Amino acid sequence: MLRNSHLVAQYATLFLKWKATVVRKIVIIGAGIVGCSLADELTERGELDVTVIEQGPMPAPGGSTSHAPGLVQKVTANKTLAIMADQTINKLLSVQNEEGPGFYQVGSLEVATTPERLRELHRRVAWQKAYGFDAEVITPERAAELHPVLDPTKILGAAYCPTDGLAKAVRAVQALQRLAESRGAVFKDRHEVIAIEHENGKVTGVTTDKGFFPADIVVSCAGIWGPKVGRMFGMQKAFQPLAHQLAWTEDIPSLADQTEEITIPIMRHQGADLYYRQKFKGMGIGSYLHRALPVESEEILPFDQAPIMPSQLPFTQPEWEPVMGLSAQIMPELADAKITDGMNGMFSFTVDTMPLMGEWNGLKGFWVAEAVWVTHSVGVARATAEWIIDGHPTLPVHECDVNRFEPHQLGPNHIKMRGSQNYIEVYDIIHPLQPMEAPRPLRTTGFYHRQQELGAFFLEAAGYERPHWYESNKDLVSKYPSPERDEWTSRFWSPIIGAEAQHVREQVGLFDITALKRIEVKGKGALEFLMHQTTGKLDKAPGSVTYCLMLTEKAGILSDVTVTRLGENHFMIGANSPVDVARLEKAAPDTVFIKDVTAGTVGLGLFGPNARKVVQKLTNQDVSNEAFGYFKAKSLYLDQVPATLWRLSYVGELGYEIYTDADMGLKLWDTLMEAGKEFDIIPAGRGAFNSMRLEKGYRSYGTDMTSEHNPHEAGLAFAVRKGGGYIGASAFEELDPATITRKLVCLVFDNPQHVTLGKEPVYFQGKPVGYTTSSYFGHTIGKQIAYAWVPIEASTLGTKVEVQYFEEFYPAVVSDDPQFDAAMTRLRS
Ligand SMILES: Cc1cc2nc3c(=O)[nH]c(=O)nc-3n(C[C@H](O)[C@H](O)[C@H](O)COP(=O)(O)OP(=O)(O)OC[C@H]3O[C@@H](n4cnc5c(N)ncnc54)[C@H](O)[C@@H]3O)c2cc1C
Repeated sequence: MLRNSHLVAQYATLFLKWKATVVRKIVIIGAGIVGCSLADELTERGELDVTVIEQGPMPAPGGSTSHAPGLVQKVTANKTLAIMADQTINKLLSVQNEEGPGFYQVGSLEVATTPERLRELHRRVAWQKAYGFDAEVITPERAAELHPVLDPTKILGAAYCPTDGLAKAVRAVQALQRLAESRGAVFKDRHEVIAIEHENGKVTGVTTDKGFFPADIVVSCAGIWGPKVGRMFGMQKAFQPLAHQLAWTEDIPSLADQTEEITIPIMRHQGADLYYRQKFKGMGIGSYLHRALPVESEEILPFDQAPIMPSQLPFTQPEWEPVMGLSAQIMPELADAKITDGMNGMFSFTVDTMPLMGEWNGLKGFWVAEAVWVTHSVGVARATAEWIIDGHPTLPVHECDVNRFEPHQLGPNHIKMRGSQNYIEVYDIIHPLQPMEAPRPLRTTGFYHRQQELGAFFLEAAGYERPHWYESNKDLVSKYPSPERDEWTSRFWSPIIGAEAQHVREQVGLFDITALKRIEVKGKGALEFLMHQTTGKLDKAPGSVTYCLMLTEKAGILSDVTVTRLGENHFMIGANSPVDVARLEKAAPDTVFIKDVTAGTVGLGLFGPNARKVVQKLTNQDVSNEAFGYFKAKSLYLDQVPATLWRLSYVGELGYEIYTDADMGLKLWDTLMEAGKEFDIIPAGRGAFNSMRLEKGYRSYGTDMTSEHNPHEAGLAFAVRKGGGYIGASAFEELDPATITRKLVCLVFDNPQHVTLGKEPVYFQGKPVGYTTSSYFGHTIGKQIAYAWVPIEASTLGTKVEVQYFEEFYPAVVSDDPQFDAAMTRLRS
């Protein structure tokens, strides 16, 4: 016996020594719903050394989770967030503490009191169908059956999702903590992190008011304190803490019989900026009706000084004033209901409404999981754990990546302004093309004023003003008319778009492509580095251009890029976003330099059958097809302007992407427009560009394919070189294209007036099976096109499907991909 216990002690000591040397140390800052979920997810995947550091007392340390009313709804246009919400629901349904379950699956309602809102409910239900969830638009009477306080005569209908409900966040926190502790995680409450320690660009641990905790990885799950934690070491986080009103009513008559905390669905009344949840015999009401109330995280009082708790400010009656009257319009009993308790609770809004996740490029080992709702908490935590352990999460997270921001998005004033505006707009009906309205204009090129003079209608892309069409082309509409559109699809649209597209197919157009990301890669080993990072065969002569992919280890598509070899060790990459820049920077060896040159350069696309004639007029160099072929690059002078031309075009026409330094932008514009006059040049906008690129079947990263798709599924296997040597090669080589289970297909609609905008569900044999991605009218072919993800059984040519557009169903057919110039004669001519 003694001998056995001696052996056990010996093994235990050996294990601890091994653990200390081999096992990585992960410190999580914050034990709200995100931090606790992350500790659970990490330890569930076998992480052995996880410490959660929390400044307040557990299990309700005083962050947003400690008082969240807990409404969880899956509905969103964003597929990743919808799935994250579903993961949260399923996880919280499985946990409980002594007080009860972590989740009440009572369902959710969203009510409409205007025809516009009722129509919007159909769009919202359609998103749920698109992503595989069940929801429906129901009658007022059915809504009132589900929700006894609701007056059915005051609403026009409701969206109902039976699987949504209410999270009991503090119970869940406690249950998740216990699960993580049972697998070895350590929780230290009443420990405040006061410094993030690092050496040689890598995190080494955190210092708390009670001592130092070494770490290989630190994950900040500090919620509204996130900006403060970031500022400890110079990191600016693109979100704003804001105060938000929540109050509780006294008991109301219709709920007098209620004995459970909640049995009736949670409810949103977006038309009034309000939401509701039952609490026993009373009601909780949350309001987005009031002005934005930004808070700085350094100003949040510590636990022992806060009047209620750190993340709560006292209730302010003036902001609440209209709430009860508006509520009474759909729930008359609330007219007389008194408020028994209320607060201005704090939570976070990012500049683009998406959460912050991932390892920050500025400090190796420093990760973030912040600006996360209870709704997405488990999903974000799961993805973060997978990201840390497997190198990339199962779900696509590029829209959540902490490295996704342009420099202007990290300015304190911008963050406050955008965070506040996103708070105000949270329940608004947002059109898919609706741009950020302020601050604008923000980023402009040297030819911006020329575009204004030509009557450009601008949308915004990466902060740039980007023309969508030009009023100067309006006379072309009589020559190239477009089908009529309904009110919704006519927003941010003009028939001029169609006229521009068709004119470019016949003559030539000048497109502003400045907003596309350009990355310079230079230095010894640059070729080998890029051959490893991308699937391209890049070891070709300088002057060649290669379209290729960046893959995850599991062969999911991380990005699609165009790589131009400018010199032996000098490359220019056309990429998608700052996330691509960060990925390359992180992986680059010391000898290879990565530079985002987008802001220092401009890009103009000269596309159309006359493009070569325009260029030839401006240079003595031979730019014939023989001398300057397809997918080649040349640096030359266009009259006075030093420029680099890539002979390719995303719109499927003969043409060039032309780049020059920003200071030569205006001159380049004027030079091309002047030289193009005799060849019928027009300025053409992004609307025409999108229509033309879809006719040609060119995919757009993030919209058409993401990391959840492999190259075979997305129809991009041609962009993967043979012979391996790139990230994801082994996984890609193991894939059998004959056994893929889903596919990106081209749908063509039966009726040209059936215009859709993307993210609509696709029905096959009466059931929702997939969703559309890019969707535009193809003006050359005279038909509406949508690309769509469908299961393989619905992917064969000629398959008949239906696409749901609001409450209508549009017939469409799986058709040839691409619809225009499959033989590539125009591009190669
Ligand atoms: C009034 C109100 C209503 C809401 N309603 C809903 C809703 O219905 N549905 C929904 O999904 N979401 C809702 N939210 C939002 C939701 O509550 C939050 O988004 C979510 O709780 C954030 O969780 P978290 O774990 O990221 O942050 P928190 O819960 O704030 O946890 C962060 C933790 O980090 C700790 N911490 C911070 N800095 C340090 C440091 N330096 N050292 C140690 N510890 C530190 C804090 O003490 C805190 O406990 C609501 C929020 C409010 C205010």
